Amino acid sequence: MIQEADAVVIGAGAFGTSIAFHLARRGRKVALLDKAGVASQTSPRAAGLTQQIRTDPLMTELAMLSVRKIERFVEETGEPLAFQQSGSIKLARTPDFAAQIHDEVRRGKEAGLDIELISKDEAHRLAPWLVPDRAEAIWYTRSDLYLEPGDLPRAYARAAQRLGAAVLSETAVTAIGTRDGAVERVVTERGEIRTPLVVDSAGAWTRVVAEMTGIRVPIVPTRHQLYITRPIPIVRPEQPIVRVLDVNVYVRPERGGLMLGGYEPDPLAVDVRALPPSFQIKDLALDFAPLKRLTEAVADQFPVLQGAEIAEHRGGLPTMTADGRHIVDQVPGMQGFFVCSGCCVGGLSISPGIGEVLAAWIADGQPPLDLSPLRLTRFGPELQDDERLRQACLWRYAHHYSDQPTPE
Ligand SMILES: Cc1cc2nc3c(=O)[nH]c(=O)nc-3n(C[C@H](O)[C@H](O)[C@H](O)COP(=O)(O)OP(=O)(O)OC[C@H]3O[C@@H](n4cnc5c(N)ncnc54)[C@H](O)[C@@H]3O)c2cc1C
Repeated sequence: MIQEADAVVIGAGAFGTSIAFHLARRGRKVALLDKAGVASQTSPRAAGLTQQIRTDPLMTELAMLSVRKIERFVEETGEPLAFQQSGSIKLARTPDFAAQIHDEVRRGKEAGLDIELISKDEAHRLAPWLVPDRAEAIWYTRSDLYLEPGDLPRAYARAAQRLGAAVLSETAVTAIGTRDGAVERVVTERGEIRTPLVVDSAGAWTRVVAEMTGIRVPIVPTRHQLYITRPIPIVRPEQPIVRVLDVNVYVRPERGGLMLGGYEPDPLAVDVRALPPSFQIKDLALDFAPLKRLTEAVADQFPVLQGAEIAEHRGGLPTMTADGRHIVDQVPGMQGFFVCSGCCVGGLSISPGIGEVLAAWIADGQPPLDLSPLRLTRFGPELQDDERLRQACLWRYAHHYSDQPTPE
């Protein structure tokens, strides 16, 4: 066990491994700690999709940067990373949501994204298992991609380790020592590490870790699930990801079958602080009923999924914020304490870009771009109330693809 580090990154999921790699690449002596193992909790259970157009220009920029970093991953890290640049399609079935499709194309083009409107025939040609007859508008982003979710954090952790980072599994952080408003040390079950800098990237446990220094992070872990069918003859890996905007459903090829996931209108918030310390994401109770309802809601678009045999059903606990943007910030009033969380079910795909900019901020003393939309303190005082926070975050989850702002 090392006794001293320039930075301790808590949590070896998508966010933590990317931050650790980018800090190590900048010559920092890094310790990456996880109470379980590398990529063992929510990250390996993700769908592994990118969607570069986001509601926020900063998040679009970071998501586009992340795709470019995945494209040149081997050159940057020395680690292989398989991905399928299948492109993605999003369709809307109502005029209101069609207006959002048009708006996303306009904003995407402004940002330099290869996004364009396509016809129903073209959508069906690209994804033959999609019946887009009811679509009012459809876009296609050629450069969107998907990958096996656990591969990305595992590759970043290996690359960080090769650059000298200490990657410590089975090492739970139990306390964070501070002095005069500055981080001084991290206490773990296996000993202490002296450090002036901590990054809290503990996923569903972000609040638990931040509360060790009395800091409140306004996020709500929310269950998200998907399933994968057994192989279906017309499915090919190079076919695009398809999203149905108005019902918040995504579908993509996986292992010869199709994967379906989505955002149910009545999601489940999970307060991990009320669970035993031994709780892991593998213990999370899953429920197929919301996925069944979402499958029925897109029966016209994906008749192939009706009654399809299920090969895998999985889920995890991404962390929601009230406005759907991540939290990436240095905590005011606590020198050396950074938070990287509030993944809003998009943290895996944006982790390459977030890791790069956060490491640059830490190393250079200031962020390379204006990260103020991701500030910890941007939320109104009403969200100090945990019940109001929970309601706002669940509303945001249930309207995941919508660009409507969360009601106050
Ligand atoms: C079904 C599903 C589909 C998804 N699809 C996508 C997708 O298509 N695209 C996308 O971008 N995102 C997707 N996501 C979201 C994505 O999985 C998350 O955004 C991402 O994994 C968040 O990573 P993380 O590092 O915050 O959390 P985690 O992967 O959970 O990592 C946090 C780590 O912190 C550790 N930890 C906690 N407390 C401590 C402590 N006290 N000491 C030490 N270590 C600690 C944990 O053990 C854990 O390993 C999906 C999620 C789910 C569940």
